[in-house]
Formats: sequence, C-alpha cells, structure tokens
Amino acid sequence: MAKTLIDTPNSKVHLNDISAEPPKGMTKAKAEKRFAILGKELFDLQDALWGAKVHSVLVVLQGRDSAGKDGTIKHVVGCLNPRGVSVTSFGVPTTEEREHDFLWRIHKNAPRRGEFAIFNRSHYEDVLVVRVHNLAPKELWQQRYGHIRDFEELLAEHGTIVLKYFLHISKDEQEERLLEREKEAETAWKLNPNDWRERDYWDQYTAAYEDAISKTAAAHAPWTIVPANSKWYRNLVVAESIVGALRDHRKNWDKKLEEMGKAGRAGLATYRAQLDTQKKARKRH
Ligand code: ATP
Repeated sequence: MAKTLIDTPNSKVHLNDISAEPPKGMTKAKAEKRFAILGKELFDLQDALWGAKVHSVLVVLQGRDSAGKDGTIKHVVGCLNPRGVSVTSFGVPTTEEREHDFLWRIHKNAPRRGEFAIFNRSHYEDVLVVRVHNLAPKELWQQRYGHIRDFEELLAEHGTIVLKYFLHISKDEQEERLLEREKEAETAWKLNPNDWRERDYWDQYTAAYEDAISKTAAAHAPWTIVPANSKWYRNLVVAESIVGALRDHRKNWDKKLEEMGKAGRAGLATYRAQLDTQKKARKRH
C-alpha cells in the first residue's frame, strides 16, 4: 500500500496510487466506536495543552471541493472544548489581503500557546488554485514552497504542532456528492457551479497537490493523505492522527502542570503563613 504519512521533504507522492476507500475489514461501526474513544482522549489532551501552554496545534485541511473539509471540522471540533479553538476559512483573498504578502492573512490566525487552530483551506491555496489558474507568474508561486517551509519551521520552533491533511476523494465520489447536493433540499445551499468547473482541472490539481505535499513535508509539519470516500473513515483517520501527535507531548505537559500545581500550592502556603503572622502580630498589640 502506498504511504499516506508524508513527513520527509521531497518524498514521491502519487495520489492516483493511493486508495480513497477505507481498508478492507474496516466498518462504519468499528470506526465510529474507535472515534468515540479517541474523542474523549482528544478532549483530555486539549485540556492539558491549554493548561501547560507549552505548545499550540495547527490543523491544516486541504482537499478538492466536496472532499469533506467542513464535515471533518464539525466532527473533530465536536470533540473539543470550544474555549481555545479557532476555525478559519480562507476564501478568495480580499483586496486588503491581496495587497499584502500571501502569508499575512495566515500568520494572523496562527494559534497562541495552548490553543488549537483549524484552517479550512490555507496558505496552500497559493500554490494550488493560483498555480492551476495562472493567478500569479510561475516564478512567484514557485518561490512560495520555500516560504511555506520556512513559515512552518518558524511556527514549529515556537511550539506549534503543525498537522496537514489532504482529504483524498476519487473523481467518481466527487461527482456523486455534487449530484447528491443538488437533489437534497438541506444541502442544495452548498451548490456552486464553480465546483463543476474545477472538475475540469482535476489532473492539474492532482499535480499541484503532489508537488505541494512533496515539497513541504517535514517531520515537524507532516502531511497525511486521508482516504476520504467514506466520511466515517475520514473522521477516524484525522482524529487518530491528531491524538497520536498530541499524545507524544502528554508527559511533557503533565510535568509542566505538576510544576504549576506545586508552585500554586507553595504560593498559597506563603500567603496563608503571612496571614497567620499578621494575625499573631495583631493579637500581640
Ligand atoms: P469551500 O469550497 O472551501 O467549502 P466555499 O465554496 O464556500 O468554500 P469560499 O470559502 O468562499 O467558498 O472560498 C473558497 C474558494 O476560495 C476556493 O475556490 C478557493 O480555491 C479560493 N481561494 C482560496 N484561497 C485563494 C487564493 N489564495 N487565491 C485565489 N483563490 C483562493
């Protein structure tokens, strides 16, 4: 099976070799059961992240139209305490955004220590849609891979756990989802002729995604290619990956929380001792 965790720069990525389906033997019931367990662990991990304020988390969600970015956010954020979570969607840049460098609007939304930030689309659009539709000269967007690598390294140095997900759906699945949207009154509001127009650029997007993933993968900012034809499996893969990445830091956070607890108790003991001394002094007079 082709590798779905890409954490080494310049790895070969062939999306067409990676199945968008769940593995054999995986069922919706199994996935949902496991997701519920992970959800509880994620909630606890977020509490420790928030208290310790050593790290922050940045989850970048990328994918073609209807790949399930919104659905993933709904499910993953549903496991978190809304305190300390931000979700930012990046659409076509506004005039103000366009008049700044491409990372300006992104950096402003990076998480503070203790926080969890989720990006629905991101700085990667500047090497995806911009490349596919020639919205900037090639010399310009080509330099952006390096800027992105430096930017993510900077975030990681500051303690941000950067996790990037490509929600991988097949072309047939996308067609089915878009047609489904049209049929259902509850989802028809999502209809956008642009989604159909973009399908004509499927292969160009594939090439752009492969390059983006390959050129910006790093141990401190790995990409996960998420088989996303089944929503329940997609949610499970993302949750498993986030929990796995955070779990590695748990000991460190618990140690910090313990130190904070000790310092808090010591502070309280000093305060009480001072009160005691003052009381005794008052009695003597
Ligand atoms: P989505 O398709 O993400 O669910 P949406 O259809 O509601 O969202 P918006 O969120 O308003 O649309 O904008 C998404 C669109 O913005 C996408 O077509 C995306 O390619 C485009 N976009 C995002 N970033 C850029 C960028 N830097 N330059 C040009 N277009 C961009």
